[in-house]
Amino acid sequence: MSDYDNQNIFAKILRGEIPNDTVFENAQTLAFRDIEPQRPTHVLVIPKGPYRTWHDFARDGSTSEHSAFVEAVAAVTEAEEVESGGYRLVVNNGDDGNQEVPHLHMHVFGGANCGPMLKRQS
Ligand code: AMP
Repeated sequence: MSDYDNQNIFAKILRGEIPNDTVFENAQTLAFRDIEPQRPTHVLVIPKGPYRTWHDFARDGSTSEHSAFVEAVAAVTEAEEVESGGYRLVVNNGDDGNQEVPHLHMHVFGGANCGPMLKRQS
């Protein structure tokens, strides 16, 4: 597992040191509203375990944590009622992924069109 900084902001949210607007929670996953929403629905889904990237979670997370995470994403899209209109899931990883907070998080965007996936580099 790559180094995990337990002072990152999502670790503080998980310890209850910083408030959050929870949308869904299960034993191993927390989902809460992004503080700077980019679409009407902008929820972050995070594992409760200390995983920095998707790769760390995929390699070192348990099957039970993986299923809890998948279940949480589905629960969020249902609670936010974005199933019929569609939505986008994004995970930024590391430097090239422009990951800002070093605790794995999946963005759930919905409620409005998300635009093209990426603009081609010039
Ligand atoms: P990323 O660039 O993929 O690492 O995304 C980090 C996201 O975390 C950004 O969309 C921020 O707006 C969001 N964020 C940062 N601090 C908080 C916070 N305290 N509560 C909720 N969302 C946050």
